[in-house]
Amino acid sequence: MEYDIVIGLEIHAELSTETKIYCSCQNVFGKEVNTKCCPICAGMPGTLPTLNKKVVEYAVKMGKALNCSINRLSKQDRKNYYYPDLPKGYQISQFDIPLCENGYVLVPMPDGVRKIGVTRIHIEEDAGKLVHNDAFVGSLVDMNRCGVPLIEIVSEPDMRSSAEAKAYLETIKQILSSLGISDCKMEEGSIRCDINVSVKPKGEEKFGTRCEMKNVNSFLGAVHAIDYEAARQIKILSEGGVITQETRRWDDHKGESFLLRSKEDAQDYRYFPEPDLRTIEVTDDLINKVEREAKELPNIRLIRYLEKEGLPFDDASLISENEGKSAFFDACLKIKPTHAKVISNWILSDISKRINETGKDISEIGVTPEFLIDLIERVEKKEISVTAGKEVLLAHFETGKSAGEIIAEKGLSQISNEDELLKIAKEVLDNNLKLIDDYKNGKTNLLGFFVGQCMKASKGKGNPSMLSGILAKLISENY
Ligand SMILES: [Zn+2]
Repeated sequence: MEYDIVIGLEIHAELSTETKIYCSCQNVFGKEVNTKCCPICAGMPGTLPTLNKKVVEYAVKMGKALNCSINRLSKQDRKNYYYPDLPKGYQISQFDIPLCENGYVLVPMPDGVRKIGVTRIHIEEDAGKLVHNDAFVGSLVDMNRCGVPLIEIVSEPDMRSSAEAKAYLETIKQILSSLGISDCKMEEGSIRCDINVSVKPKGEEKFGTRCEMKNVNSFLGAVHAIDYEAARQIKILSEGGVITQETRRWDDHKGESFLLRSKEDAQDYRYFPEPDLRTIEVTDDLINKVEREAKELPNIRLIRYLEKEGLPFDDASLISENEGKSAFFDACLKIKPTHAKVISNWILSDISKRINETGKDISEIGVTPEFLIDLIERVEKKEISVTAGKEVLLAHFETGKSAGEIIAEKGLSQISNEDELLKIAKEVLDNNLKLIDDYKNGKTNLLGFFVGQCMKASKGKGNPSMLSGILAKLISENY
């Protein structure tokens, strides 16, 4: 029997605010243990939380980016559970009235755009971290992460493959990064996700029982975890077994998931309204500010490059995920709207190479959209060859001189004079008489070799398409 895989994701993203969500401790990663905490985030009795306004602003930004409706009044709730890294014995989160809900995100993939539903986005505080170390027996608690602000983005169970889940994760990460609300450092745990997976017989409408995998902290880990879990469930079902709802831990090193506990329900957490915090009111001013500051998001830009500019998927995604390259590409398109692909070629080859070599941003390497378009036009008019164009760009990086100056100085103008080309072609053919026989006996791809030899002889300045015609004519008439 064939099965459908059904996937939903809960993404936890740490927000890059200056301070924590309920106290004025610095929100910073990698400091000495227990130096970035205070009585409030350490959960001392008698302390009171104060909500950081920035957290609400960032969450509303994300809500708008994911097309959610924003609840103008929302509240915070206590989620009660015990763990040594949670000194208060509860986490302040949002239960029945989250800040944002009922949204969606468009996720571009090579074979089309997916629309993935976003159930809700709520704010909450992070817990501390347990430190295990060979230097001591047992575990110690580091409270630096207690009270770091998080948003949790809960998707609808709309994904049907690990590839879709990965594309969704990448899109969410790019949006967070483009909004500047999270540093998105996966290796520091800034983005973590819980993955819900179930399977059902192909075509069946009713979803199967789902299992949740906790704390997956890399995109590749998510792909492996989903594929592993789907295979595990399909094996159980095809052997006549039943899936039990449970929470599992994904072990990236072992490439397996392990039973953590039978799945807890919301009621197990005894949620109740947080009595120490006021209702959150999202004002018109905040909504207006967020709308004013909104710019084109990377996923929407990618779709525009695919659908409007006709770029191949790989080109479009490489440019759209980089703000600098996108701005440069768009500025070039403004001057020369019909040349998307050739502009993209230059950006992704020679310009990207320069960016990688220098470690600088595209705006700092000394090339402007005007220069690139000038160069593209000179190549198009056959004033210079593509090879010479690359040399001009390189010289421009070094000297900042105009394309015209560089071409004149280096004598790069393409030879389009028929007599001159004829002379070069004859010389090449005279030196390759044996190959001309092969060519005449059917090895017609040798023509490319002859053109290459002529290009070499002309130091890259010969006009290759003219040379190709001249060579073919010469061989059939004179050899
Ligand atoms: Zn604190």
